[in-house]
Amino acid sequence: MNLNPHQLDQDGYDVRGFSHGLYIGGTWRQSSDGRLIDVVDPSSGAVIAAVPDATLEDATAAVEAAAKAARGWRETAPRKRSEILRRCFELMVERSETLAMLISLENGKALRDARGEVAYAAEFFRWNAEEAVRITGEFGTAPSGTNRIMVDYEPIGICVLITPWNFPAAMATRKIAPALAAGCTVILKPASETPLTAYALAALYSEAGVPAGVVNVLTTTNPGPLTSAMLADPRVRKLSFTGSTGVGRTLLAEAAKNVISCSMELGGNAPFVVFDDADLEAALDGAMIAKMRNAGEACTAANRLYVQSGIHDAFADGLRKRMAALRVGAGTNADTECGPMITKRAVDKIDRLVNDAVSRGAKVLCGGSTLEGEGFFYPPTVLADVPPDAAMAHEEIFGPVAPITRFEAEAEAIAHANDTEYGLAAYIYTRDVGRGMRVASRIEAGMIGLNRGLMSDPAAPFGGVKQSGLGREGGQHHGIAEFMEAKYIAVTF
Ligand code: NAD
Repeated sequence: MNLNPHQLDQDGYDVRGFSHGLYIGGTWRQSSDGRLIDVVDPSSGAVIAAVPDATLEDATAAVEAAAKAARGWRETAPRKRSEILRRCFELMVERSETLAMLISLENGKALRDARGEVAYAAEFFRWNAEEAVRITGEFGTAPSGTNRIMVDYEPIGICVLITPWNFPAAMATRKIAPALAAGCTVILKPASETPLTAYALAALYSEAGVPAGVVNVLTTTNPGPLTSAMLADPRVRKLSFTGSTGVGRTLLAEAAKNVISCSMELGGNAPFVVFDDADLEAALDGAMIAKMRNAGEACTAANRLYVQSGIHDAFADGLRKRMAALRVGAGTNADTECGPMITKRAVDKIDRLVNDAVSRGAKVLCGGSTLEGEGFFYPPTVLADVPPDAAMAHEEIFGPVAPITRFEAEAEAIAHANDTEYGLAAYIYTRDVGRGMRVASRIEAGMIGLNRGLMSDPAAPFGGVKQSGLGREGGQHHGIAEFMEAKYIAVTF
C-alpha cells in the first residue's frame, strides 16, 4: 500500500479503495470550506494523505443525518440489527490485513500490534451482535401491591463519540457497536492523527448494511467548538469520550450545560506489582505485554513497575535483556516490534520524563535517550531505582519506558499503587492466589490483571475509577446500558 499526499478526488472517495471524505448521511464529501488536514506517517514524518477538516456547518449536517436515520434504526428489529453487526464483524475479519496495514501506517504501531487491534476491534461487533437480541426489561409488583412496575430500556438518542489516536479501530468500534445494538445513531469524531482507519471502517459499515445516517464520521482540527455545537442540539443525548483526563474534564463541563449523559474513558497510570513468589518468566512475559503493546501508547500500559526486593534484580535484568532486544522500526515493516511514537511532541514528553527521573537518581539499564534520524522514535528503555517523586510516577509516559521501583512489604506496594489520581488498570504477579485477591481488592482500579499482562476483552467491563473515567465499555450488559435509558411504566390492571 502506498498512500499519496492529498489523494482525495472530487467525490471525496480515494481511488485506491480507501474512503476518506467526511462521511455524512451515507455520502462522502469535502468539508464545507474545502480545508484539509494532513495525515503524517510517524515513522518518517512524511505527509501520506489529507482528509477534510470539518466545519460547524458539517457538524450540523452530521447531526441532521443522525436525526433523520434515528427513527428507522430504533424501529429496526433487534434480529436485523444483530445481523448487520455480525456482518460488520465478518467484513472486518476478511479485511483484517489491509486494515492492520492502514493502522500501522497512520499510527505507527508494529503490524503485529495492529493485527491484534483489528481482531479486538472486530470482536466488539461480534459481541454486540450477540447482545443486540438479548436486551431485556424488568417486571414486578410494587411493594405496596397497588400496581406493577414495568421497566423498558430504550435507545438514549443521538450519540457523539470521540476517540483517540492510539487505537484508531478499537476505540471506535467499542462505542459504535454497542450504540448501534442499543438502537442509537451516532456521529464519530476520530482523532485527526489517525482518521484513515475510521473512514475505511465507515465504508465497511455501509457495505454491511448499516443504513445511511446511522453512523456519521467527521474529522476536524477544531474539536472544541464543533463538539459544543453538537451537544447544544437537544436531539443529541449522549457523549462517549475516550482520551486524556484533561479533555475529559472540559467535555464533562460542556455536557453539563445541556445535561447530556456522559461515558468517559480517560487516562491511566497502571502499577505493575511483582511479589517475590511470582513466576519470574510469567511476570516478564506479562510485563512485556503490559508495557510494550503499542510501544507503550496504551491507557492500560504498565506505567510503574513495583518489584519486591527478593526478585528485584532477576526481574530487572530479565526485563533489560528483553527490552534491549526489541527491533525498533517503522510499524509497517514485518519484523518491527516497537514502532515510532505518534508525534515529535510525544517523544519530547518521554524524553523530559526520563531526564527528570535520572536527575532524581534513577539508573538507566537500557535505552534512555532519543534516537537520531527521521521519524518519531524512542528506544525501549528500562530504568531502576525510580523514586516516588519522579514525574513519571504520576504522569502517563505513553511510551516504551519501564520504570522499576523496589519495595519490601505488601502494604508498601499497595500504597505505591494507589498513590495516583488515576485508577484504570493494575497488574499483580504472585503465586499466592489469596494474596493476589487481597491486593486486587485494595488497589483502586477499574480493572486488575492477576498474573496476566492483558485484560481487554469485549465480554468484560472496561473502564476506570478516580480520574480515569465514568462508565464502562463492553461487558455483558454494561457497554450497551451506557446507550440506553430506563423507562418505568406504573401499571394497574
Ligand atoms: P486527547 O484527549 O488529546 O484526544 C482525544 C480525542 O479528543 C481526539 O479525538 C481529539 O481530537 C479530541 N479532542 C481534543 N480536544 C477536544 C475538545 N476540546 N473537545 C472535543 N474533543 C477534543 O487524547 P489523545 O492524546 O488522543 O489520546 C491519549 C489519551 O487517551 C491518553 O490519556 C490515554 O490514556 C487515553 N485513552 C484512554 C482509554 C481508556 O479506555 N480509558 C483508551 C485509549 C486512550
